[in-house]
Amino acid sequence: MSKVLSDIEIAQQANLEPIVKIAEKCGLKEDDLELYGKYKAKISFGAIKRLAAKEDGKLVLVTAINPTPAGEGKSMTTIGLGQALNKLGHKTMIALREPSLGPVFGIKGGAAGGGYSQVLPMEDINLHFTGDMHAITAANNLLAAAIDNHVHQGNTLKIDVRRIIWKRVMDMNDRALRGIVVGLGGKVCGFPREDHFMITVASEIMAILCLAHDLMDLKKRMGDIIVAYNLDGNPVTARDLQVDGAMAILMKDAIKPNLVQTTENTPALVHGGPFANIAHGCNSVVATKLAMKMGDITVTEAGFGADLGAEKFLDIKCRFAGIKPDAVVIVATIRALKMHGGVKKTELTEENLEALENGFANLAKHVENMRKFDVPVLVSINKFITDTKAEISLLKKLCEDFGVDVALNDCWAKGGEGGVEMAEHVLELMKTKKTPYKPIYDEKDTIPNKVAAIVKEIYGGDGVIFETAAQKQVKELEHLGLDKMPVCIAKTQYSLSDDPELLGRPAGFKITIKDVRICSGAGFIVCQTSNIMTMPGLPKVPAANRMDIDENGVITGLF
Ligand code: ADP
Repeated sequence: MSKVLSDIEIAQQANLEPIVKIAEKCGLKEDDLELYGKYKAKISFGAIKRLAAKEDGKLVLVTAINPTPAGEGKSMTTIGLGQALNKLGHKTMIALREPSLGPVFGIKGGAAGGGYSQVLPMEDINLHFTGDMHAITAANNLLAAAIDNHVHQGNTLKIDVRRIIWKRVMDMNDRALRGIVVGLGGKVCGFPREDHFMITVASEIMAILCLAHDLMDLKKRMGDIIVAYNLDGNPVTARDLQVDGAMAILMKDAIKPNLVQTTENTPALVHGGPFANIAHGCNSVVATKLAMKMGDITVTEAGFGADLGAEKFLDIKCRFAGIKPDAVVIVATIRALKMHGGVKKTELTEENLEALENGFANLAKHVENMRKFDVPVLVSINKFITDTKAEISLLKKLCEDFGVDVALNDCWAKGGEGGVEMAEHVLELMKTKKTPYKPIYDEKDTIPNKVAAIVKEIYGGDGVIFETAAQKQVKELEHLGLDKMPVCIAKTQYSLSDDPELLGRPAGFKITIKDVRICSGAGFIVCQTSNIMTMPGLPKVPAANRMDIDENGVITGLF
């Protein structure tokens, strides 16, 4: 048997075309591009404005079942499906999120797809790319510095230092920074106070980048950010601190979508990258809408399982952007379904039909959930070399008996060719008449009712417990009239519940909300469950330990 190449080895063998040539395929001229070397470019405001008059193409959302820690191949499938649709003669764009350095060096590795369905140059995309993450980090931390400086310089806004809610961020998994004390060192160093770091992708600035319509909308949203409460209990904003303009300057290039290509030279926009567990999990509205102007079909993804990424895509992003997918693809793997059926993570490569049948309940719940939004659904079986024929036919049969369309997806091993069956099913599904946008809850409802609707309809739970502190936060937001926004639940990706150990299709559970945080610039309210951190930690053996670079700059082990 020939050696199975790693993602990075496949990426290094690919024949990249100059990005100017890729741009031509999607109707752009060299003048429309801001080049970042030969293979990456940002797209200018001029081009975005010019294309705005064009009609929208169709939109396909790729989501998944609750994953294993390795991921179930959503990004890979999004890329593979885009390549397959192109192969079938449909002008297709791909719209993905940008990877964060946290997972790259932590457990999961990069997020640029895999096998013969990757976006390239994967080393750059996984590392510093075009600097968007750094811009977000800088804008976030400028605001943090401005808050402490304002207090130091006399505090005319009467900021209550015990109630500063804005946190510092860094795009790295660093548990030591979860809780810190700043301002130590005497009078010249400001007032000591407890502070916290989050990972950059959980920052409200990232959410704003992903939800803003343009630079002026982004600037307005920067100003709307609530950073603290004053001694009278009223919100203090970034506008009050007069740094909204400077923050927008730091974001002036980051707001422009990044154009790259896939292993088969299909154009892809890779832009914005909030995690779906601790943030809203979707790439930018600017990039998705631009892709819909450039292609007849756009394939995009939302993070983690459909209970997180897809719910937020449909309840937050679509609500704000005025879009709705024409089809939803749910990626399932046989190994993850066996895990949901009770098999240990170390034994997932062995055939186990009984566990597969038991674990199917997780997939079935996600199919039911997506149908609640009135979107046509396809199950895509991401094929692994360890899957047996018997397992694949059983999963197909379970899907057929459940009444959901199903297709095999071999895009990891075969690129676009391996996605043709899936692409044909997607094309058929997109012929279904589009129904009006249908979110799960009314944003004007109360915060507890909105969270309860998600728990009941999507997670399949019985209810919500708000801890005492969270109850107070809800009351305060109601009092300030800031509660009439969508909710973004921060929850584990491993389970439909907020307990990572409850696999399959749990029932009879309640979820517990410990923190309710307003993101008035982004336009949503984060409700954080007890078991989730906004600053991840590194595992015992981080992915970073396997990585190296040689004298020619050739990287190994990125995964
Ligand atoms: P997700 O987007 O769901 O998190 P990714 O597409 O990033 O998942 O894939 C996660 C990892 O799994 C990647 O390293 C990818 O190469 C690998 N992978 C995905 N599908 C397959 C497959 N069918 N066979 C082997 N490895 C795969």
